[in-house]
Amino acid sequence: MLTRVNPKNGDQLSILGFGCMRLPTKNMGIDESRAIALIHDAIKNGVNYFDTAYFYHKGKSESLLGKALLGGYREQVKIATKLPPFQLSKLDQAKKIFATQLERLRTDYIDYYLLHMLTDKAGFDRLIGLGVMEWLEGLKAEGTIKNIGFSFHGSKAEFESIVTAYPWDFCQIQYNYMDENNQATKSGLLLAASLGIPVIVMEPLRGGKLVTHLPAQVKKTFTNYDAERSPAEWALRWIWDHSEVLVVLSGMSDEAQVAENIRIAGHAKANSLSPEELNVFKQVKKILQEKTIIPCTACGYCMPCPSGVDIPGCFSCYNDKYLMEDKSVRFRYLQTLGATSVKPAFASQCIACGKCESHCPQQIAISEKLNMVSKEMEGGIYKPIIWIARKFMKLK
Ligand code: SF4
Ligand code: SF4
Repeated sequence: MLTRVNPKNGDQLSILGFGCMRLPTKNMGIDESRAIALIHDAIKNGVNYFDTAYFYHKGKSESLLGKALLGGYREQVKIATKLPPFQLSKLDQAKKIFATQLERLRTDYIDYYLLHMLTDKAGFDRLIGLGVMEWLEGLKAEGTIKNIGFSFHGSKAEFESIVTAYPWDFCQIQYNYMDENNQATKSGLLLAASLGIPVIVMEPLRGGKLVTHLPAQVKKTFTNYDAERSPAEWALRWIWDHSEVLVVLSGMSDEAQVAENIRIAGHAKANSLSPEELNVFKQVKKILQEKTIIPCTACGYCMPCPSGVDIPGCFSCYNDKYLMEDKSVRFRYLQTLGATSVKPAFASQCIACGKCESHCPQQIAISEKLNMVSKEMEGGIYKPIIWIARKFMKLK
């Protein structure tokens, strides 16, 4: 297992982190003995970073991890878990959640503690207003939390605002060869690195879609170069090729995934892909681009929108729905475009002012396409869901 050193605190972390959001299941719950065996196997093979969250597996992921780490394993690993801002309207709720997390994880400290799923700077400001950061700093000073960070799903501009607004110990972003220009983007990764903020990467395989839902032409492009290398290996190698990435989280669900990821993490050094291999990704991206319904390249020239619409973010979700046959894309749309953000960025916010359209090099009829996106992604039961989430968080 290759390791990389956290530049902030010297922690030597395995480049592969175990994401505990997709543990093996049985009878509608976690398959406990199998999940524990997977975790033990990963530790024995050098994985020392375990990522969970308050609500993964309906709250059972933290408890399972706590149980798996009994018997001397806890001391060998770093635990990362997350505070759900969308469940907070006052500080006492955060304190209660944190106490529950320590209890579930059977530990008296958390190594890496994240604000879960920040999407906008205004949302971060709301947490500061509730006193969350001051309280976390107190926990860090007493050693109950070792590192304070955030996980992010939002636009590039919002990432830049958040990452520069606080002396973070680390951050976590979605990053893979399909998302080089989405969410935090590559420039966000480089910005965090330039600030000395370590970056943990999540969704390296887009929830498995970069393995299971790839168009045949893309698979052929990969296998033409190397028939032995799986789509998962191509995707992981692409991320680990970035020296700015500290750990890549993989939500592993079975023995074969654990074995394959450990094997790849044994040789995936930074800057090790050859020009020919990098060219394979260029070809793959070209194929995917040609297959997209809205030909948005996420260049960002149309931004910012005076109504707050994340134009490339909306188009990315819409395109994925058809390109990757991604059934979870509606959830991702609501998540990243702001169901729980102080300032959402939905397609429906477009007032058709037309200001963006002259800037688009692809000559996309942006407002017309946003109208189409809005109907498909925000229709049906989704409007009430957004309303309930925002009401709970006391957001307008
Ligand atoms: S047309 Fe719509 S998306 Fe474009 S700038 Fe105006 S409000 Fe924003
Ligand atoms: S300018 Fe056009 S291609 Fe670029 S992000 Fe905006 S819509 Fe997409």
